[in-house]
Amino acid sequence: MQKKSKESESVKVCIRCRPLSTGEMNAGHTVVVEIKNTGEIFVKRPFTDEPPKQFTFDAAFDWNNSQQQIYENTSAQIISNVLEGYNGTIFAYGQTGTGKTHTMAGVEDDHKQRGIIPRAFEDVFKGVQSDSVKTQFLIRASYLEIYNEECRDLLSKNPKKKLDLHEKPDSGVYVKDLSYFAVKDVSEIREVMNIGQKNRSVRETMMNAASSRSHSLFTITVERSEIGADGKPHIRVGKLNMVDLAGSERLSKTGAVGDGAKEAAKINLSLSTLCHVISALTDPKATYIPYRESKLTRLLQDSLGGNTKTVMIANVGPADYNYDETLNTLRYASRAK
Ligand code: ADP
Ligand code: MG
Repeated sequence: MQKKSKESESVKVCIRCRPLSTGEMNAGHTVVVEIKNTGEIFVKRPFTDEPPKQFTFDAAFDWNNSQQQIYENTSAQIISNVLEGYNGTIFAYGQTGTGKTHTMAGVEDDHKQRGIIPRAFEDVFKGVQSDSVKTQFLIRASYLEIYNEECRDLLSKNPKKKLDLHEKPDSGVYVKDLSYFAVKDVSEIREVMNIGQKNRSVRETMMNAASSRSHSLFTITVERSEIGADGKPHIRVGKLNMVDLAGSERLSKTGAVGDGAKEAAKINLSLSTLCHVISALTDPKATYIPYRESKLTRLLQDSLGGNTKTVMIANVGPADYNYDETLNTLRYASRAK
């Protein structure tokens, strides 16, 4: 077995395959994906005798894995690192309809089916409560959307306003005028998330299913202040980014032309730059990391690489008619590794 570099341990790429939907079952579609608990996935081209293609990831999950298992195996460790003052990022990647939002947000009124974001809220506040009384925490949340390489604040009264990225020599890249809400418990942060999701769906109806073409980024900043041995307060800040990426489906499939084509190129720019950044981070020989080439990676620069932790969950569908897209996702994810 190849020994991994330290950096590659801080970046994990996992696969998740959703179940065949009732509609797919009724239409007579078959499952072409098989997942082993060793992180291997096999995909068989439908209606051929070709041997299945095999890919291996840090972990692979199928329809038998629960939301809780996904959370525990991909994200829980990142949340405890954030409480210690490190940055972390969780991405959901994949074609529209494969389960990105199910993985990140989950089902709102079904406790068992809640996703990574609400589970992270619970663990952040559990960590805060269990810590010593001498430690003080300030938790803040922000929620933004990147659409067409433009940033918008999902918590603002004016979510249509475009926000600019700025850079300070000491604190790095930040979004100018982005709202931050201080939150003191799980119900407050849930409320913040709901406001953002409402704004997102309003925009979605305005812009014709834009949510599948935009990246949404929910960020929790945990600032902890404790009195050190020297009697002075010591402050550590950890940042947790949870990203529901734009659908990765290709231009050809959506048949986009004109504005649609331009938009797709920009979405692909963010997604392809993300792949290049992650693959450079895991390559010990890489000398250059192209953070600056897209808004998303520029914004996440301080949360990707170095002593931060990153997980990408690449979502796929199991059905025969999704074979080409599934293969594209697996290739993207294995390039990122
Ligand atoms: P995306 O955000 O990638 O477009 P969604 O998360 O909206 O995809 O999922 C598409 C549909 O599939 C939804 O109806 C969702 O409830 C369902 N789904 C996705 N993943 C799972 C899963 N692991 N188990 C059960 N249903 C799922
Ligand atoms: Mg979605």
